[in-house]
Amino acid sequence: MIAPTPTEFSATEDAPSVLRQLLERAVASGASDLHLQRLTPGGAWMVRFRLDGVLVPVARLSPDLAERVSGRVKYLAGLKTYVETLPQEGRIDRAAIATPDDLRVSTYPTVLGEKLVLRLFTTHESRTLDQLGLSAPTLRSLRAFLPQPAGLLLFTGPAGSGKTTTIYACLRELAEGGRHVVTVEDPVEQIIPGLTQTEIDEARGLTFAEAARHLLRQDPEILVIGEIRDEQTAAVAMRAALTGHLLVSTLHAGSCRGVFDRLLSLGVDPSSLAATPGLVVNQRLFRRTCTHCAGDGCPQCLETGYRGRMPVAECLPINEAVRTVLRTRAFTTLQPETALATEASLLVQAGHTDRREFLRILGHEP
Ligand SMILES: [Zn+2]
Repeated sequence: MIAPTPTEFSATEDAPSVLRQLLERAVASGASDLHLQRLTPGGAWMVRFRLDGVLVPVARLSPDLAERVSGRVKYLAGLKTYVETLPQEGRIDRAAIATPDDLRVSTYPTVLGEKLVLRLFTTHESRTLDQLGLSAPTLRSLRAFLPQPAGLLLFTGPAGSGKTTTIYACLRELAEGGRHVVTVEDPVEQIIPGLTQTEIDEARGLTFAEAARHLLRQDPEILVIGEIRDEQTAAVAMRAALTGHLLVSTLHAGSCRGVFDRLLSLGVDPSSLAATPGLVVNQRLFRRTCTHCAGDGCPQCLETGYRGRMPVAECLPINEAVRTVLRTRAFTTLQPETALATEASLLVQAGHTDRREFLRILGHEP
């Protein structure tokens, strides 16, 4: 990857114009976040975009201009512009800044001063299962599982691995089937017609666990819990799956096998896990080598050598063999998980991505 040269803005430019230019560029390049922070005490500020999952420096602002831009962002987000020593969160309406979606703004005090992060909800993420670019075996596993009336559909993978996008694509298909889908999410990233969607609000006491307790009374056929992160939520999830509901959720685990370990550590009984149909999906996103420059770096890819991402996933259905393992808790005897690395190696060989990206995502050489 070639380090791009950040744009220098003239200190005399006006803040609304600079902000507009930065946001236009962020939207055009498909950035998911815009970071604005000071580099040295009292020095220049750096603007970075999160592009295909990686932070890329795009512009440098003089302290005076940066202060005015950050003040403008805070004003538009309805935050207290004079407060710099406490974190604040707000939202900028898309109409105020001419972006396709609202922006979420988060400010945070650091030793060098206030840092701002603007989250762009990129609309290009609303895709169907067929448009995601999943491999044929992964698509087959998902399509075989989705018509099930009851069971567990669990996704894992680090933050930014595309789990949410895949889940929304699944929900879009499920909603078409006429079943009642009730979700509790953090945050709701896409609004899908026909679904009952709720956003958790921990400040007001609406946690995953609290929402999950009431979900079953909303007469759902399909429940979506954004993440299983405590015992209470895990218990509700298992009860839902065992009482004739299809439960969709995510867990923090590095592998399909790790999902079972995680559920057990959250107090789930292995025999009830073995009693429900299930599919575990472990997903990663690989940056795609830029087709304009073949990875050498060009204006189209902001000199990064990559443009766009593609999902790579492995699926582990809870079948008879896995059930036996679950009952005996001998997880190490489960099939080794090499599907993900094998699929990614093929993508490297075909030139769709490269060895450096493979190493970044999977932590070892192809
Ligand atoms: Zn390029």
